[in-house]
Amino acid sequence: MRSVAEQALDDPRAALSGVRQRLASLSAGDAGTAFWLRLALVDVLVHTDQEVESRRELAAAAQALPASAAGPQERLWLEHFQRYVDTGTVDPEAFRRQQAAVRERARAAGDAHLLCRLDLNEAALLVEQDAVDEAWAALEAVDRCAAELGDAGLRAYALGTMGPLAWRVGSLQPPQTYYQRALAALGERPARYKRAWLLDDLGWALVNGGQPTAARGPFEQVLALASQIGDVSFMMRGHEGLAEVLLYQRDAQGALRHARASLQLSAGHPGLRFRDVTAQTQVVEALALLQHPDLADAVEALRAMAARDPSTRNASLIARSAARGYRALGRHAQAYAELERYLEISNHDARAARERDAQRLQARYEATLREAENRELRHAAERARLELEARAERQRALWALVLVLLAGLAGGGWFFGLALKRRRRLAELALRDELTGLPNRRAVLAFAREQFNLARRLDLPISLALVDLDHFKAVNDRHGHAAGDRVLQAFASAATHVVRGQDRIGRWGGEEWLLVMPGTRASELPAIFARLRQAMAEQRVPGLPHPHGVTFSMGTAERHAGIETLDALVAEADGHLYRAKAQGRDTLCGHSLSLVHSAAESVSQSA
Ligand code: GH3
Ligand code: MG
Ligand code: MG
Repeated sequence: MRSVAEQALDDPRAALSGVRQRLASLSAGDAGTAFWLRLALVDVLVHTDQEVESRRELAAAAQALPASAAGPQERLWLEHFQRYVDTGTVDPEAFRRQQAAVRERARAAGDAHLLCRLDLNEAALLVEQDAVDEAWAALEAVDRCAAELGDAGLRAYALGTMGPLAWRVGSLQPPQTYYQRALAALGERPARYKRAWLLDDLGWALVNGGQPTAARGPFEQVLALASQIGDVSFMMRGHEGLAEVLLYQRDAQGALRHARASLQLSAGHPGLRFRDVTAQTQVVEALALLQHPDLADAVEALRAMAARDPSTRNASLIARSAARGYRALGRHAQAYAELERYLEISNHDARAARERDAQRLQARYEATLREAENRELRHAAERARLELEARAERQRALWALVLVLLAGLAGGGWFFGLALKRRRRLAELALRDELTGLPNRRAVLAFAREQFNLARRLDLPISLALVDLDHFKAVNDRHGHAAGDRVLQAFASAATHVVRGQDRIGRWGGEEWLLVMPGTRASELPAIFARLRQAMAEQRVPGLPHPHGVTFSMGTAERHAGIETLDALVAEADGHLYRAKAQGRDTLCGHSLSLVHSAAESVSQSA
């Protein structure tokens, strides 16, 4: 059973046919072996999304279980698999009751492996119900027990499922961290299928996180691994990922080649035609960049797909790409109509996701308050201490709310449960700076405004930093404008690695950048400056010697009582930037530390 699972990580189709061969060669008296082999089959089928088949094999496994000879372990595993196949289709309450009963018996039998898989069942149900905090906790538990059991496949599964939830539960690690941990959990074992799966997720997380160039390697590996095991679906995904990266890099010919390769693959596999939307949007975008005569036909083919595909995600992708296509064709009225449609769908989706998250947090916030109040009643003598604790808890709950609102803004809700396995970038190209891939001025300003208003309403800290590269004109003059561009890209890359999950940096103009840091106090800024300074110094810039010696100056400002508007906060940071330049550059200016200390003192006195 275990070896089948391991083989399925590498090549599920080979694993399936291996098991089927062994089943065919079993003699009638081998009912026990047949039973375990069939369960192994069910496991692989579920993981490769073959639902109908998995139910059939499960029924066959139940039949193979000879009533008289069946031990308690066989029965338990059979019941577990029945729940496992049913997740999402049964009534959640009934599911939980049955699950608890199986868990009780598994505990009595000391079956640690089964207990760990029951946690996974639980997590899958919670994800399905959009209870992401609880799902997160359950997945962490699976990761822990799978690590103890040495079950790398289970660990990779749990960690891979945590990736898309990361922003929503307010994790400070970006989604890509979880895919990387999942890949690391696989170690050296052959696991081409699972690796292709995780690398594909990793690639899209990088694309969505504004690091499309870094996604190229993962997508190339997806394509290579999928080709080795003949997995057409992942080959298509590899091509689509590469097309996406090349579109970001404005290599329209390359993107067109990959998108067309994906379409060609699905032509021979009708079951995969549902994936064509992604590739066709890429064809349209590439042809639009090339001003190609085939563009009009490609847009019409894409529009025809919209009529066939009812999913809102695809409808929004189609509308956006069709708008670009029509614009390139000079058909502005149609472009406008498509853009309106796109905005309507994506606003609706983002709003729905934000509302769901806000409701969830509101409930948690209220529960936290209630708990605090109950405690207060019970321990009247400790009132003073408890009041402090409740306040801290309210602060934490509010914090979680802020983080999720951030996630809503960042992701626009690009994850809607396990059913939606494949994800695509949501970031609108119009909001990205073409040279660096970072948010442009408009985007970072919108983010700053939302965050500033939120921080003011909830009285939370927020800091801004304006960054300006030093003597950049001299860099251009000495090494050429193209090298100057690469310096800007190097800075963007350094910044992307340094800023934390809740922060956002965007290109403010030329060689100036705005860094928005919700929840950050002035006292934390020197450390952030130091990390960014070091990351920039370590960058290698083609066309410049190493070390390149390009530095930057930073002016910062933390929101305080006297600041009513974002513009005033930016102006304050700008003033400090001016001072940093005057002080000789390569430095940080902002609130003096003494100011920060006295502010902290006055807070603790009032508390
Ligand atoms: P200081 O440290 O005082 O800021 O000196 P500086 O030379 O950086 O100052 P200034 O703001 O006068 O010069 C900025 C230069 O950045 C001028 C402009 O040619 C260059 N620049 C702006 N945008 C780009 C770009 O996209 N690519 C390149 N290569 N250069 C750019
Ligand atoms: Mg400047
Ligand atoms: Mg400058």
